[in-house]
Formats: sequence, structure tokens, C-alpha cells
Amino acid sequence: MELREINVLENGQVCPECNAVIPFNKGYVSWCDCGFNLDTPSAGKTVTKLQKLYERLGEKRGDGIYKKLSGQQKLRQGPSLSKGMAFLLASLVHLISIGSLTLGIFFVIFHNNNYFLLAGGLILLGIAWMARPRVPALEKGEWVISRQDFPGLYQVVDQLADAMKVTKIDGIIITGDFNASVTQIGWRRKGIVTIGLPLFSILEPEEQLAVLAHEFGHISNGDLTRSFYIGTALYTLQTWYELLEPVPIDEYDNFGLFEIPVYYFMVFLAQIPYSIFFLLVHLLFDASQKGEYLADNRAAKAVGYQHLISTLKKFQFEEAFHLKVRELAVRKKEINLFEAVKEQINSMPVREKERLYRIAQLESSKLDSTHPPTFNRIQLLEKFRTIPDVSAVNRVILVKMQKELETQHSRVQDQIIEDYRYYLNMW
Ligand SMILES: [Zn+2]
Ligand SMILES: [Zn+2]
Repeated sequence: MELREINVLENGQVCPECNAVIPFNKGYVSWCDCGFNLDTPSAGKTVTKLQKLYERLGEKRGDGIYKKLSGQQKLRQGPSLSKGMAFLLASLVHLISIGSLTLGIFFVIFHNNNYFLLAGGLILLGIAWMARPRVPALEKGEWVISRQDFPGLYQVVDQLADAMKVTKIDGIIITGDFNASVTQIGWRRKGIVTIGLPLFSILEPEEQLAVLAHEFGHISNGDLTRSFYIGTALYTLQTWYELLEPVPIDEYDNFGLFEIPVYYFMVFLAQIPYSIFFLLVHLLFDASQKGEYLADNRAAKAVGYQHLISTLKKFQFEEAFHLKVRELAVRKKEINLFEAVKEQINSMPVREKERLYRIAQLESSKLDSTHPPTFNRIQLLEKFRTIPDVSAVNRVILVKMQKELETQHSRVQDQIIEDYRYYLNMW
């Protein structure tokens, strides 16, 4: 009896939930088959109201969307009722915006001798200005890398664009995020690919191409145009809501008899843009979830499903990256962050990899609030097993791209560490 107890302490520990003995690896999380310590860490990600709404919708509707798609013989985009409704609602919002802007201008120019109409016109113009559509711009410290300095990278995105039959992108940005994306910047809607070096540094060349192909899949879907058209409508609705929503009643010292009906009238009015906003987000949700699966499928057609799957599995290493950043920021060691993370992953015990893999199978594991669960994405890719006839970009060029990205390690590392220290000092 006593002997057994000693063994437990030396080779493992006891699960506090089911009392089973679980293996122990120094420096890693201990977990158990019963589910103990197998939940997703929400590593300090900022969560906005909209993201929360998306998470809730994901819990409620994500499964249904996945099942519907996996029941199809072939993934098709096709028009859908929800997409059409979303388009109509967004158009209505844009029409009201344009209408009130026009009316405002009309009052100010032709009725400026009537103070009542002039005031009304100015208010309309003010609202139009506040709710004006904004286009994404480059953030501070971001710049487009030049074609001369990064010929391999541009060759890869150009050839991939040709293979996937989308318009060539205008520029590439390299950042310190564990992510990648494609956006349209400015009023001229320039196509910009953002490459997060932390993510790319742990990927093989074919996997890097797979990430780019998924992003190009969104261009091919028309997701960017749709999210811009509907996104600006959402922004307008939000502004209307904020302007109409009255200050809460308990913040007034003395409420006059007259103010009470006005207050409730404003509360009622504010519900109108809020309800349309809510409805639009609902309609948009289905389309954007479907868009992610379609983007995966289009990417598989260009680069092969197996590279997408191995990439998706590596998303779970984000935690390892953040831990390394923290370590370097505090210890001020002179080592290559990216190499260190790779080494860490290579020397990870099998049991830790198993833990990460199990977490990836949880409903709540996804890249961000708009993407479907990683596990479902892998399942759908495995169902269709789509591969290209010829690879979109040959390996020689891919390796050239990888070498060019490596030249950015120390610059991006300095930036990441500096940002992290700045973040630490804020608290
Ligand atoms: Zn247990
Ligand atoms: Zn995506």
C-alpha cells in the first residue's frame, strides 16, 4: 500500500476530479482523460460586444451550418436567402444615410432663413458626418514591403492569385501577430495581404502557401466586398443607436414631468437601429461561417487539403509563442525568438501535444470569433479531400519566400518585445 503511494508521487499526480493517476511533465500542464485541465485558455484576447455576440451565435448555430455543408455532395457558394436579406437591409440603411445627408444639405442651402429648418438641417449633417463610412487604413508602424526587396514573396502571391483566378494583390505587410489576413485598404480598395511572422515562422513552406490560399479564398468568395458593404451599414446603425440612447434615468437628480415621456420615447427610438443591427449580424453570421469553409475548400483546390490540415493543427501553438515572448521580455536574453519557439515545439512532450490536440477538438477552439471551430474545419477538409492537379507554386519559389521572411526575424522580434514591455508597463 505504502509503496504505491510513493510511486504516485514520483511518477505522476492524482487528478483532483476523478482521482486517477496522471503523468507529470515538469514545466507543462498536467491534465486528465476525464477533462481536467482541458479547457481553452482565452489568453488575454480583447473581446468586444460584437465578438461576444458572434461567440453566442457560434454556439447556437455553428453546428447546424457545419452539418448542412458536410451533407452536400459539393461545396457551392450560391445565393442564399440570408445573404439577400442582409444586402437589402444594408441597402436600406445606406439609403436613409444618403437621404438624410441630402435633406440636410437642402435645408441648410435653401431654407437657412427659417431657423427651425436650418437647425434641423445642421443636425442631419452632423449625424451624417458622425456615421460616415470609414475605410480600413494602414495602422501606425505598418508599411507595405517593396517588390524589389522581396521578389520571392511577391512571386508566390502573384502565382497563387493566378492559380486561384483572383486579381493580383497590391501589397504585403509583415507584422508580429500570430495570424494572417487579407484586407482592402483605402477608398481605392487596394488588396493587402498581412503576414504575421510568428505564425509563418512555425510553418513549412507548403503550409505558408496554404494560409495565403485560404485568404485568397475569401477574395474569390467575394467576402471582402460583402463585409465592407454590410460592415459600413453596421457602423452607421451603431452611431444612430449611440446618438438616440438617452442617459440612464438614475443619473438625473430631478426628473421633470415632461422629461419622463421624452425619455421613454428615446428609449423606444433607440431600439430601432439596435434591432436592425442585431438582425444584420445574425444574417451575416451564417454567410461568414459558410465563407470560411468555402475559403478552405478553394484553398485546398490550389494547395492540397493535407497542407491546410497540418496548418490548422499548428494554430494551437500560439500559446507557446506568447509564453516565449513573456520569457524573453523579462530575461532580456539575446536569442532568436522564432527559433526558440520552433525548438520548444520540437522538444514538446508527446503528452503536451496530445493535450493541445484535444483542446483543438473542443467546440470553443477557433482562430477568432468569426472562424468556425478548427476541428470542424479539419473534418470538412477530410471529407472532401480536395487536391490540385498541379501545385499553384513550386517549392523552389516557396523556399525563396521563406528565406526572405527569415531576414525579418530580428526586426519583428524587437517590435514584439517592445510592444510587450509597453503593455506590461500599462498595468
Ligand atoms: Zn480525472
Ligand atoms: Zn478566413
